[in-house]
Amino acid sequence: MTKWVYSFGDGQAEGRASDRNLLGGKGANLAEMCSLGLPVPPGFTITTEVCTHYYANGQNYPAELEAQVNGALQEVGRIAGRRFGDPERLLLVSVRSGARASMPGMMDTVLNLGLNDLTVEALAADAGDARFAYDSYRRFIQMYGDVVLGLDHEVFEEILSDEKARRGYDVDTEFSADEWKEVVGLYKERVESELGKPFPQDPREQLWGAIGAVFSSWMNPRAITYRRLHEIPENWGTAVNVQAMVFGNMGDTSATGVAFTRNPSTGEKALYGEFLVNAQGEDVVAGIRTPQCLTEAARREAGSDKPSLEKVMPEAFAAFVEIAEKLESHYRDMQDLEFTIERGKLWMLQTRSGKRTTKAALKIAVDMANEGLISRAEAVCRIDPASLDQLLHPTIDPAAKRDMIAVGLPASPGAATGEIVFTSDEAEGMAGQGKRVILVRVETSPEDIHGMHAAEGILTTRGGMTSHAAVVARGMGKPCVSGAGTLRVDLRMGTMTAMGRSFKRGDVITIDGSTGQVLAGAVPMLQPALSGDFSTIMSWADELRRMKVRANAETPVDARTAHSFGAEGIGLCRTEHMFFDDERILAMREMILSDTESQRRAALAKLLPMQRADFVELFEIMAGLPVTIRLLDPPLHEFLPRGEAEIAEVAAAMGVDAEKLRQRTESLHEFNPMLGHRGCRLAISYPEIAEMQARAIFEAAVEAGQKTGAPVVPEIMVPLVGIASELAFVKAIVDDVAKKVQEERGNAIDYLVGTMIELPRAALNAGEIARAAEFFSFGTNDLTQTTFGISRDDAGSFLETYRGKGIIEHDPFVTLDVDGVGALVRIAVEKGRAAREGVKLGICGEHGGDPASIVFCEEVGLDYVSCSPFRVPIARLAAAQAACRKA
Ligand code: ADP
Ligand code: MG
Ligand code: MG
Repeated sequence: MTKWVYSFGDGQAEGRASDRNLLGGKGANLAEMCSLGLPVPPGFTITTEVCTHYYANGQNYPAELEAQVNGALQEVGRIAGRRFGDPERLLLVSVRSGARASMPGMMDTVLNLGLNDLTVEALAADAGDARFAYDSYRRFIQMYGDVVLGLDHEVFEEILSDEKARRGYDVDTEFSADEWKEVVGLYKERVESELGKPFPQDPREQLWGAIGAVFSSWMNPRAITYRRLHEIPENWGTAVNVQAMVFGNMGDTSATGVAFTRNPSTGEKALYGEFLVNAQGEDVVAGIRTPQCLTEAARREAGSDKPSLEKVMPEAFAAFVEIAEKLESHYRDMQDLEFTIERGKLWMLQTRSGKRTTKAALKIAVDMANEGLISRAEAVCRIDPASLDQLLHPTIDPAAKRDMIAVGLPASPGAATGEIVFTSDEAEGMAGQGKRVILVRVETSPEDIHGMHAAEGILTTRGGMTSHAAVVARGMGKPCVSGAGTLRVDLRMGTMTAMGRSFKRGDVITIDGSTGQVLAGAVPMLQPALSGDFSTIMSWADELRRMKVRANAETPVDARTAHSFGAEGIGLCRTEHMFFDDERILAMREMILSDTESQRRAALAKLLPMQRADFVELFEIMAGLPVTIRLLDPPLHEFLPRGEAEIAEVAAAMGVDAEKLRQRTESLHEFNPMLGHRGCRLAISYPEIAEMQARAIFEAAVEAGQKTGAPVVPEIMVPLVGIASELAFVKAIVDDVAKKVQEERGNAIDYLVGTMIELPRAALNAGEIARAAEFFSFGTNDLTQTTFGISRDDAGSFLETYRGKGIIEHDPFVTLDVDGVGALVRIAVEKGRAAREGVKLGICGEHGGDPASIVFCEEVGLDYVSCSPFRVPIARLAAAQAACRKA
C-alpha cells in the first residue's frame, strides 16, 4: 500500500530533510526539526504524490488517503493529548501548503481549523480566556472564507475596520471577548449571505475543504505564473501539512515572530527578526501593527522604543537563540525561521534556507567558508551566477543632490529610477512599451508578482522588512523601499502625495533601496565595481575554474569595463560597429558606392587609419591579453540609408547622385540578409576590404607592442565560413598582408587566423577547416539560427507560443540547445582537435554569458567563453561552478 501521509511529533518523524521532493520543503524541514528534538507541534504531511495523483485522476484522492489521514490525526491528538472535533479535549490544526520550492502563489495557510460555534466555547473554557478564543475564531472564519470558500478578504477587512472605527480602536488587540463575538456573528452572516449557505461547522468538512483548497491552488493562475517565471515544473505538485495549533495570541506572555540567523540584507552575522506580542500567524508580516525587534542590539540600532524579545521574554529568547544556532550549523546555511511563543513556551514552526540579497549571499558564503562551516568550493557554488547581475547595476552617486520626498525602510538594496505606476497591470503594460516604471502600492500581495517583475523598483507605504514586497523584491534582486508611511497613495485620483507635494502617474521618481529614500526625479548613478566579498568569491572561483573568460567588446569603454571585471582577453571584436559613427560611415558608403576596385581602395584608405587607431587602443587596454578581431560581417546594405528622404539627404551630403544611391541601395537589397552576401563572402568578392582590415590590425599590433612593451598576438577571425576553401582564400590574403607589413616595419608579427563556426556545414567539416584555422570560435547565435532554420529577429512571434505549449523548454537563443546546436559543437570540437592538435576553442555567442550554456561549454572542453562585459563576473563564477560539478 502506498504511504501517502508522513507523521512527525514528539522527537520523531517518518520523513527527513532530504525528502523535500516527496514532502515539500516545509514538511521535510518540520520532520527534520522534530528528529533533532526541537519543540515542534506534532503534525503530518500529505505527500506531493497525492497532488500528482489528484490531477492525474480527475481531481480525486487515492482511496487509502482518508484512512491514513485519520490515523495520523489520531496520532497528533495522542501526542498533544487532545482529539480533533472533541470539545472536551479540543485539538485545532493549521493546514499549510508546501511545495518543493517555496512558492508565494500557493494557498495561504488556514489557522485554528476545527473551531465552530460549540468548540469556540470549549477553547475559551480550556484557555480560561474568551477573548483569545473568539479572536481565534474570527481569524479562522476570515482565513477559511478567503482561501477555501473563495470570498474576497476585503469582505472581512471591511467589517473589521467598520467595527474598529465604530469603537474608536486603533489596533485589533483592543477588542474584548464580547466584541470579537459580535465580529464573528457579522462574519458568519456575511458568509451566509454571500454563499447562500452557512459557514461549515463540521471540523472534518473544514479539514477536507482546506486540504482540497491547497491542491486546487497548485493550478491557480498566480501559482502557474510563478512557476513559469521560476521554471518550476508543473508535475512537482505540492504537499499539505496539517499541524497542531500553538497560540501566540493567548495574551501578553504569548507572541509570534520570524527570524533569520543572519541579516538577509547585508549578510552580517547577527540574529535578525521581528515579533509581535499577543498575535498569530502572519500578523508580523501583514503590517497591521509595527513589529518589535528580537534583540536589544537591533532595537538600539533601529532607535525603537518598543522592547525587544530579549527584554520581554528572556527565557524564550535564550531558547530561541540556541535553536537558531543549532539549525544554522545543522543545515550549514543561513536559516529563515518562524516561531510562536505560547504562554512563555517556545515552538518552532518552520525553518528553511533563507532568501537573501546577493550582497548578503556573498558575505555569508565568504564568512561561512572562513568559519570553516563550508568549503571554499561550496561557497563558490552557493552563489547563483545570474544574481550577480544585481551588483553589476548602478547605485546612487553619493555626490548627487537628493530631492527627498519620503523615507521608508531599506527593504531591498540598489537604486532605481522610473515613472510612477499604481497597479501591477499598469506596470506590465508600460514596461511592455519599453518604459521604466516604479510600482507604488500601499502594500503588495502575490497578485502583484507580474507587476513587480515588470518594474525597476517597488515602493510601498505599508509593511516592514519582512513584508511581502520586501521579501519578494529581495528574491528578485529589485530595489525596494517599504513602509514609507508619510506617502499617501490615492488610487482613484492616481496620485501620490508627500510632504505637501503631489505626484501623479507617469512622474519620474528614484528609490534608493539601500537607504530607504524616495527621491523626486532621476538621480545620477554610479557604476558598480568588484570589491570586498564579491572579489573574494571571484578569486576563489578563479582558482577553481578551467575555462578562460573573455569579453565581446569593440569600444574602449567596453574593453575597459571588461578588463576591470576580470576578462582575460577579447573573444569577439565586431569591426563593423566601428564604422557607424558619422565620419566613418561616410567613407564606408563611399566604398560601397564605388564602381571600380581603385575607387574602393581609395575609400578604404580613408578608413585604414581610423581602424588602426581603434585597434591600437584596444590592444593597449588589453595589455598583452589575446584579442580576437572579426573581419567585416554584415551585408553592406546595412550601411546605406533607407527611405527616399534619407537617401536624398545622404546623396546631398556626399555629393553623389541620389538616383545612383537609390539604385545601389536597391541592388543590394536581399530577401534573406541573414543568409545573404555577408561574412567571408564579402572578403571573397572584395578582397581589398579584408586587406585593409588585416593591415590595420597588423600595423596596430606593431605600434601597440612598441608602446606597451608587451608583444601583441592578434587573432584574426573569418566569419561565416562554411567551406574550407573559403577560409583558405581569406587566410591567403591575411598572410600576404602580414608578410608585407613585416617587411615594411622590420618587425616579426605573431598572429593567428581562425574562424567562427556558425554554419552547420562548418561544424560537419571542421576537420578540413581546421587545416587552415588555428582557432574556432563558436558563433552560437548564427549557429542556432542556421541549425533551427529560425531567424532570431522573427522568432519572437512564435517562440513564446512554443514555450507556452511545451514544444520547447528554453529559448534556444538564451540557453544553448544542447541536443541540436550542442551536437554540432561536439562534432566540430572532435573533428577540429583530430585535425589540429591544440586548436583553440571558444564560444562568442550570447550563450557565452549564460550559466546553463557555460556548463555545456565545460562539458565539451572549450578553452574559453566570451560574453558581454557586464556578464564577465557571471561567466567566471559559472565556469568555476561548472568545473566543480564536472570534477
Ligand atoms: P507561509 O508558507 O506563507 O509561510 P505557513 O504555513 O508557514 O505559511 O504559515 C503562515 C503563518 O502561520 C506562519 O506565521 C506560521 O508560523 C503560522 N502557523 C502555521 N502553522 C501554525 C501552527 N500549527 N500553530 C501556530 N502558528 C502556525
Ligand atoms: Mg503566506
Ligand atoms: Mg511560513
